Formats: sequence, C-alpha cells, structure tokens
Amino acid sequence: MIIIGLTGGIGSGKSTVSSYLQSLGIPVFDADASSRAAVKKGSACLRKIVDFFGPECLLETGELNRPWVADRVFHDRKLLKQYEKIVQDQVRADRQRFLEEQRAKGAQAVVLDVPLLIECGWYTEVDCVWLVSVPREMQIRRAMQRDHSPEETVTARIDAQMSLADKKRYADVVIDNSGTLEHTKEQAAEELRKLGIATEKKNR
Ligand code: ATP
Repeated sequence: MIIIGLTGGIGSGKSTVSSYLQSLGIPVFDADASSRAAVKKGSACLRKIVDFFGPECLLETGELNRPWVADRVFHDRKLLKQYEKIVQDQVRADRQRFLEEQRAKGAQAVVLDVPLLIECGWYTEVDCVWLVSVPREMQIRRAMQRDHSPEETVTARIDAQMSLADKKRYADVVIDNSGTLEHTKEQAAEELRKLGIATEKKNR
C-alpha cells in the first residue's frame, strides 16, 4: 500500500487536492478532522487534557474552552508542546487505525492529508510527500476570501508556519495550484499514473 503524505500551507489547496483524490476512490485520512474530534466533549483525549490543565479548561457545557487553553499556552512553549503532544498522540493513534483498516481492505494507496506533515516529522513515515504550492500573494488572497479574514490575520498565521519554500525541500512532488482547478487535477492524476495507482474514475 502506497502512503502519500499530502501537505502545504494555509490556503494553498490541500483540501482541494485531497477532495479530488477522494473522488477518484483513494481513501484519505484528514489530520485536521482527527485533531478536532480528539478534543470533542466526552473523548478520552479531552479527559487527558483535563488531567493536565485541571477542570478550569472546560466550559460549563463540558466542551474544551479553546480561548482559555490558547491563553495558557501562548507564552509558554513547554506547556504548548505538552498540550500538542496529547492531541498528536490521539491523531497518531487514529492514523494507525486508518492505515490498518485500509491495509485489511487491500487499498493500493492512501493519502494522509496533514498540514504539519513536515513540522511533526510524519514525512519520514510516508512513501512520498506531495506539496501543494502557490505563490505567497495568491495564498494570502485565497485564504482571505475563504475565511473572510483581514490580511494581517492571514499573514500572521502564514508567518507562524514553515514557509512553502522551505517545505519544498522535503517534497517528492510539488503540485502547482496557481492555475485552474483542472490544471491542478491533471498534475495530481499524472503523479498517480507515475506511481501506477489505478483509480475508480478515469484519471483526468
Ligand atoms: P487550509 O490548510 O488553510 O485549510 P487548504 O490548503 O486546504 O487550506 P483549500 O481550502 O483547498 O486550501 O483552498 C483554499 C481556497 O482556495 C479555497 O477557497 C479553494 O476553493 C480555493 N482554491 C483552491 N485551489 C484553487 C484553484 N486552483 N483556483 C481557484 N481557487 C482555488
């Protein structure tokens, strides 16, 4: 089973590419969805977070008080790392379950859609790294339009991450998403062909 690690920057087009790959019948693991589920009310991971911070980290509803946590970890890198590790351990366990299920089903290829694939070191645990890339100005514009966010908010988020230029050094494949969606799909389909991955629909 070929494991493709799909990554990029904020608004560079990961979800766009992963939806396309999914539409071709390739199973996709969404690390963002997994980390959101990890902190849901009643989850085992949320219980670990409560053990770590104390019950003050919960709202009256029993949900995680995200602003409270963000405030606590903002100026304390050690605390941030400890908190991230609790969530990442859960995402890693979800990923393992996903891989085992897909192996058992005989999947020929799977995609791990992981925004922080490189930063977290997961790039060493996949067969190939695909980076979805666009020029910085386009990344800012698309993220602003999608999130209805002001430019300063978007650039601050982008600057807090490893740059796309730096991520390129880890990539086996760079998908240029600065053109039409059709052009992006063609590149992804071509890379699948190179890997000998057959798809449910005709690659186009
Ligand atoms: P994030 O990590 O911030 O969630 P992402 O990398 O998953 O972002 P997408 O959500 O796929 O990025 O794309 C960002 C925005 O750009 C979306 O609104 C999407 O519809 C749009 N977009 C993506 N690719 C193209 C394209 N080739 N042409 C025009 N718009 C595009």
